[in-house]
Amino acid sequence: MSNMDQQNILQQLEQIQQEASAALASASTTEETRAWHSEYLGSKGRLTGILRSLGSLSPQERPLVGKRANEIKLALESALESRQATLELTELETARSKERVDVTLPGRPQTVGKIHPTTRVLREIYAIFGSMGFQIYDSPEVETDEYNFQFLNMPPGHPARDMWDTFYTTDPELLLRTHTSPGQVHAMRQYAPETIRVILPGKCFRYEPVSARSESMFYQVEGLAVGKNITFSDLKGVMTSFAEQLYGPGHAMRFRKSYFPFTEPSVEVDIACVLCNGKGCPICKYTGWLEILGAGMVHPHVLQAGGYDPAEYSGFAFGMGPERIAMLKYGIDDIRYFFSNDVRFLERIG
Ligand SMILES: [Zn+2]
Repeated sequence: MSNMDQQNILQQLEQIQQEASAALASASTTEETRAWHSEYLGSKGRLTGILRSLGSLSPQERPLVGKRANEIKLALESALESRQATLELTELETARSKERVDVTLPGRPQTVGKIHPTTRVLREIYAIFGSMGFQIYDSPEVETDEYNFQFLNMPPGHPARDMWDTFYTTDPELLLRTHTSPGQVHAMRQYAPETIRVILPGKCFRYEPVSARSESMFYQVEGLAVGKNITFSDLKGVMTSFAEQLYGPGHAMRFRKSYFPFTEPSVEVDIACVLCNGKGCPICKYTGWLEILGAGMVHPHVLQAGGYDPAEYSGFAFGMGPERIAMLKYGIDDIRYFFSNDVRFLERIG
């Protein structure tokens, strides 16, 4: 090996160092620095190539060139480390600023559910009767035979029980109530001999085939007023005011005689069909009338069961189905939608 070779290699080393330094300074991402590393310092890199070729130098030349080559290698490695540290910091900052939450941006709209039509009608009913001084009274959904039937003038074997078949519990005395009327006796027993003005909303149950018009579970709102000198005129006045507030004023109303074991006399209350205004349509079955509730004067036996002397006290009671009211109000043709839990149903209403 000649001196020329040694000089030549030293020159190459200096050149590589200059190029490598310039390239590193212009690397703008950590990814570029990795490419830079494989170009100069990797196993197939240019500097590594030179280090490998040192074997071709004479033993006298080798130390000088080797020393210089190692100095350059160490210098480049150290420069790479510092360049990478700087770039990593910048990249972290950029990532952070991209992820920053801009609190001035408008929020994404939330999908908000709607109030269930039964709940909506119940709230309207509460507000109307609340304005007439009626309070809400909670009573149990699981009842005894006594409260569900006997106190309401339906002793065992009474034919009216056939219309109210229900679900029984493992205790033969306990059943799911078929109507909210047993709550009347609960309220009376709690308040007697005070005067009473309450509504009793809640779920009721019937063991019967489910169809578009009847469900095994549904809501009722019972109402009860007890006091001295309460007459049928009071019942008519309260029912008329209720119908006007719920359906708007000006609807013709009629009271039809009816029968319930726990009221005497009993009536069904109709209003002129809200859809055809009495002319006749499929909803009112071409009668022009819609039945909205059942009512009557509290039967003396029921007053007695509640702890009131029928010679001194009287009262009226009424019951209605919020689902039925909602069906007429929103044009719903199948009661099974109410509990089928299909969100499209809720989206469509109101
Ligand atoms: Zn009609």
